[in-house]
Parts: sequence; structure tokens; C-alpha cells
Amino acid sequence: MPNLRHLIVVLGDQLDHQAACFDGFDAKRDAVWMAEVAEESTHVWSSKQRIAVFLSAMRHFAQELQQKRIAVHYTPLSEPKNTQQLGTELGRAIEELRPSAIIMTAPGDWRVLNQIKQTATHHNCPLDIREDRHFFSTVRDFAQHAKGRKQLRLEYFYRELRTKTGVLMDNGEPAGGAWNFDQENRESFGKEGPPPIPTPTRFTPDAITQDVIHLVNERFADHPGELHAPNNTATHFGWPVTRDQALQVLQAFIHERLALFGRYQDAMWTGEAWLFHSHLSVALNLKLLSAHEVVAAAEKAYRAGKAPLASVEGFIRQILGWREYVRGIYWTQMPDYIERNALNATTPLPDWFWTGKTDAHCLRETLTQTLQTGYAHHIQRLMVTGLYSLLLGIDPKQIHAWYLSVYVDAVEWVELPNTLGMSQFADGGAMASKPYAASGKYIDRMSNYCKLCRFDPAVSTGENACPFTTLYWDFLLRHEASLVKNPRMVMQVRNLKRLDADARAAIRAQAKTLKISS
Ligand code: FAD
Ligand code: SF4
Repeated sequence: MPNLRHLIVVLGDQLDHQAACFDGFDAKRDAVWMAEVAEESTHVWSSKQRIAVFLSAMRHFAQELQQKRIAVHYTPLSEPKNTQQLGTELGRAIEELRPSAIIMTAPGDWRVLNQIKQTATHHNCPLDIREDRHFFSTVRDFAQHAKGRKQLRLEYFYRELRTKTGVLMDNGEPAGGAWNFDQENRESFGKEGPPPIPTPTRFTPDAITQDVIHLVNERFADHPGELHAPNNTATHFGWPVTRDQALQVLQAFIHERLALFGRYQDAMWTGEAWLFHSHLSVALNLKLLSAHEVVAAAEKAYRAGKAPLASVEGFIRQILGWREYVRGIYWTQMPDYIERNALNATTPLPDWFWTGKTDAHCLRETLTQTLQTGYAHHIQRLMVTGLYSLLLGIDPKQIHAWYLSVYVDAVEWVELPNTLGMSQFADGGAMASKPYAASGKYIDRMSNYCKLCRFDPAVSTGENACPFTTLYWDFLLRHEASLVKNPRMVMQVRNLKRLDADARAAIRAQAKTLKISS
């Protein structure tokens, strides 16, 4: 295209036809730029599922743009000239296409934002970064909320956003007269197990996805996780990779799962990965769906009497609340945030996190499912793999890299505060008011994992000791002096009084063996 005006940069997690980068787009003078670079799959050791989701969704999006007669400069991974680095590829495009400016929607990652800014400066090309309208709040809104507060808490930010947006509000008051219905939510399944679980909405890979699966299996063969060969009908890959598919997942969730979402949002069950969760995080994070439309669909179901308020509020809180909140934490606290290690945790990540080969049934289930599908629900992430890492004292940077690698929905702005802050307390309480520390008894209460395990969640030393329970007491002993200053931890720390010197020594010795064997 002679005299290219604007080159619109679209990244793999910006697949939104309505994004601000397209405002004022003129197909006669502007073009889109997209590139597949290995750097994005190797800066952390990305799982095959995660790589496949991103590449397939990008290729589908580029095809949709081309169908709209938009010029797309798309660099595939296998193009010989591809340097496999985002910055250098963009630089190459600037030199070849000579646009008068680059336009993009604000990227989600600090690392990527810096790379793009540096490239634009280096090539002397004006860069226009536009607000990401996908979200309900801006980073400026969050910074304003945070200003002057000693402590940040989700609850206050969430209430502010409910009031500002009018979501689940009736005449200026929260619908149902309360902000939170958690006492009606968060049940376990009980002995009888889950009620019938709707079949998840999964998609058979089309020709584009099959090509990608083939490419990933060849090029990233040594990366973690599984992706069966394209001709294998039992392929594990079924994620939505287009907006149409994402809308189908949303509709199925609203009609089939939302009503029981809240009630069972913390429950876990052997062999059941999907339960009553939405499985929408990947579609949301790639921007195939807008957060606004997902929240509106849930509220509409409540207003139409199709789902109870407790469930709908519980769901909306995750998106309008937590998702916005973690984004604010990320952008207001980076780049220092990633360096934090408030509990001085230094244990290396156990190798079996990459294989699932462990005797602990809850960990084996969660890890195996994660590596096969790229998915685990929140409580599996927080109270199984996250809890184990916290109690063992795994180096926060190593556990962060693991979470960023294995989940299909993993992008740094949402993954990092959840891992480093909420689950590892490495930020010293910026995200959560206390460490999510618990013994194996929590897992026993919320699942049937312990019934199928060779360990006993009530036992902290000896052959049958549950590693979570051993490490829970060891964690309290290790951090007693600092935890006792946290009013929300006082009760837990007080229970240490039950342990005499011999019991403490036995727990410490057993915990040491767990650290060595990791
Ligand atoms: P549902 O349970 O159906 O929840 C609905 C939606 O709410 C999700 O799709 C998601 O968009 C949002 N949501 C729920 N909880 C959170 C949360 N804590 N923070 C932000 N959004 C939330 N979520 C990611 O999207 N990407 C990540 O990389 C990621 N890493 C995590 C790492 C750890 C250690 C923990 C504890 C949580 C992480 N989460 C992450 C949050 C949460 O676990 C996932 O969003 C959720 O499990 C995705 O499954 P779902 O779509 O079925 O969610
Ligand atoms: Fe997990 Fe411990 Fe229960 Fe086994 S006994 S499933 S290790 S919590």
C-alpha cells in the first residue's frame, strides 16, 4: 500500500473488532499488523494448549479482518525472515511499510508495552496508545481509588464500580439489599457428589486450528502439556478461538451453569474439571468477549428470574470486582511488583509440577487436568497448587512463571497479582489481607480428593501425614513472629500453642523431607 497512514498493531490478546485501535480506521489508507513470535511462547515455558489457543485465535482474527477487506500484514511463526522477537519484528515492519504512525490499544503486559515503546522510538515512528475499552475501569480510576489509602481491599473498589456502573443496583442500592451473598454460596458437594453437570461447550478444531496443533506439536514438542495430533479424534483441544464460538460458550454458561455457579464455586470433585464454572477467562482475556457483555448477560438472567441473585452477584463480583481490581494492582505496582518476596520464599519449584507425578491425590488431579486442558478452576489454583507452593515456600518468581506457562487464560496483568499477591502473599498484603494458609482439612471439606488419597488430612507427621497439614504447621512455625501481627491470622497462630516441643520438632523434620524431595 503506497503512503500507508496508520499501522494498527494487534497483539494476540487484543482480538476485538470494536477496540479503540480501530477508531477512525480507513481501509484505503490504513493496515493491520500482527506477528507470531516464538519469544511469546518461550519467555516462560508456555504449554502447548496455551500456545495453540493464542496462535489459532490470532489466525482466525486475521482471516476475519481480511474478509472485511482490511489489509493485514501477518507474519507467521514459520516465515524464514521472522526474527521471533516482537520488538524486532515490529521494527522490520516499520522499515518496510513506513507508516506515518503506529496505533494500538494499550497492551496488557508491562514487558510488551516497553518493547513497543522502545521500538517506536528507535525507528522514530509516532506511537498512539489508546485506552482499552474492554474494561469497566481505567488504570487512572484505580490509581485515584488507591490514592491516600493505607490498605487496598477489593470490597471497596467493587462497591465503587457497582455504584458507578449501576450493575445490580436498584435505585442507588445494591440489588437484594446487600453487596455480598457469600453465606449462600461456596458449598461443597457433600458425600453424594455433584448434581448432573452440563456438558462443557467445546469445539472440534477446524482446518486453521488443526494446522496450529500440528505446528505446535512439531515446533514446541518439548513444551509442557498435551495436544493430540490433529487426526486424533480424542484431541484435548476444544477452546473457543473466534468471537462466534466465545458467544456460544457465554450463552451455554448463562443458561446451563450460572444458576449453580455461586453455590458450588469453591467445590472440587475427582475427575470433574469443568463443574459449574464459566470457562470464559480465555475468551475474555483474548478480548473475544467484552467484560461488559458478559456481566450484562448475567444480570439479565437474574432480572428475568432465570438465576438466583446470590449466584449472579458471586459471578459478577469475579469480573466487575476481582478482574478489574487485579488489573489496577498490576499497572499501579509494576515494575517493582514482580520482584516482591515478602515471605523470603526460596524453595525451587518441584519438577513434578510439570508432570503431575505425585502421590498427593489433590495435586495429581489438579496438575494432570491442567496439563491436559490448560484449565483449572479458581479454588484448584488457589487452594491446591497455590496453597502447596505457599506452604512449601516456593520462590514466587518460579511459581509465577509456572502459572503463566500452563493456563490458556494466562496473561501477566491478571496472572501475576493472583499468583504473587493473592496466592503467595509475596506482596506482603497489597492484594489480600492475609495469606490463604490452610491445612489438608480445607481440601477434605471442599472435595472428595482426600477420600481417594493415601494420606490423611488430619495427620501432620508420620507415614500417612498429609503434606499440606505438615507444611501448614511448619508455615505457621516459620512465620509466627510476622503472622501474629496480622489480626486476621491471630486465631490460626494461637493454635500453635497446642504443639509441644516434640511435636514442633517432628513437624519441622517432616517438612524438611518434603522440601528436600521437592
Ligand atoms: P469462573 O470461575 O467462571 O469466573 C468467571 C470469570 O471471573 C473468569 O472467567 C475470570 O475472567 C474472572 N475471575 C474469576 N476470578 C478471578 C480472579 N481472581 N482474578 C481475575 N479474574 C477472575 N485468571 C485469569 O484469567 N488468568 C490467569 O492467568 C489467572 N491466574 C491465576 C493464578 C492463580 C494463582 C489464581 C489463584 C487465580 C488465577 N486466575 C487467573 C483467576 C481465576 O482462577 C481464573 O480466572 C478462573 O479460574 C478462570 O476460570 P473460569 O473462566 O471458569 O472462571
Ligand atoms: Fe491432598 Fe492431603 Fe487430601 Fe491427600 S490428604 S488429597 S494430599 S489434602
